[in-house]
Amino acid sequence: MDLWFGLDALPRLTDEQAASYEQERSASRNRALARTTVAVGAFYLLYGLVDILLLGDIAWLSLSLRYGLILPLMLALGWYQSGQHPIRHKEIATLAMAIAGNVVWCIIVAASDNPAALHYYYAAAVFQMVVTIAARPTYGLALSASLVTAVINYGFIGFVEGMTAVNVAHHLAVYLPTVVLTLVASHQLEVERQRAFLQMHENEALKRELSRQNDDLARLSSTDPLTQLPNRRGTEAEIARLRRTLKPHELQNSAVLIVDIDHFKAFNDSYGHGAGDGCLREVARAMRRDLPDTVHLARLGGEEFLAVMPLTDQTRAGMFAERVRRAVRSLSIEHAHTGDRNRHVTVSIGVACGSIASDTLLNELLEAADEALYGVKGDGRNGWRLAPSPGGSRSIDAA
Ligand code: GH3
Ligand code: MG
Ligand code: MG
Repeated sequence: MDLWFGLDALPRLTDEQAASYEQERSASRNRALARTTVAVGAFYLLYGLVDILLLGDIAWLSLSLRYGLILPLMLALGWYQSGQHPIRHKEIATLAMAIAGNVVWCIIVAASDNPAALHYYYAAAVFQMVVTIAARPTYGLALSASLVTAVINYGFIGFVEGMTAVNVAHHLAVYLPTVVLTLVASHQLEVERQRAFLQMHENEALKRELSRQNDDLARLSSTDPLTQLPNRRGTEAEIARLRRTLKPHELQNSAVLIVDIDHFKAFNDSYGHGAGDGCLREVARAMRRDLPDTVHLARLGGEEFLAVMPLTDQTRAGMFAERVRRAVRSLSIEHAHTGDRNRHVTVSIGVACGSIASDTLLNELLEAADEALYGVKGDGRNGWRLAPSPGGSRSIDAA
């Protein structure tokens, strides 16, 4: 922690931070400034009574200056404070008002011939407290305002009834510690305000970073690292999203495709696991390329994939199944160990149309698609079959 004459130094804010600090403190400062102005203003106006009690000879001067000049200025300040101005400008206006009050007070006391003015003049230190502690401006403004009030108070001191050099020295003995201590307090207030601001921003930055990492984690945990397609978890999330966003009839008229690579075990055994991984990636990429973005395509596990298509009838589902079958066959990935007449990597696809509106209905649909897939495998693979439904069934077997 930096020290400045034994005090905590102000944190160093970047230009951007300083602008944001200024903006953030605006709301709370607006309220505090208005409250302080009313409280200190009322106090100042009531002090006319003290003028009359202590220095009866300037009663009229005091009342006319306090109520005829300062009161209208205070009302004008209140109007300015309620407007849309930068908080710094409002603080400067408020300090200028305090300084005007200080000048008026000095004029009143200096105008009196009453010897009590000598003691009353110690109240000059109150203006120092107002511009630092009561108004709570930023430290820089408090320092400037302190210098101005000191110049005013000591500019008028020679005109006060009965003031001698010794009295001035006594006055300084009270005034100077007031200046130093109130400025120390103002400085510490500013340090604490800026630290709280920086701390809050650090917390917010940490929160943002945490939320970004959570998003990354959620994305990673729902993505298959090999093919970069969504995995089972990603599919569950997508189904949940579809159920939240789609209309019932769109969910009820959906289709699912279960795609399984043919003779993949033999492919792995013959060409190695690395080549198998490469094949899975290529097949996944080809299918994704040939399906519209609205179709959710996921890797269920192993060499099995799932496509979910909301609002898709049997004709359209069959068209997509054929498109997927062709896309994979067109890759022309050699596979000499299929044990049948196919000599390339192919897929078999089970298609089922129905509702994905609930887990039960979705599972029924998946079972139907699985059964259809099983049928294609039995029929020689490299084809697709539509699960039986009230609308009838169709199949294509290109094997
Ligand atoms: P079918 O035509 O009846 O589907 O036969 P198949 O050999 O494709 O099916 P089977 O279920 O017997 O074999 C699937 C193989 O998929 C077994 C396993 O070695 C392979 N496999 C599963 N996951 C991966 C993977 O991540 N990478 C690789 N390279 N192979 C995998
Ligand atoms: Mg399989
Ligand atoms: Mg297989």
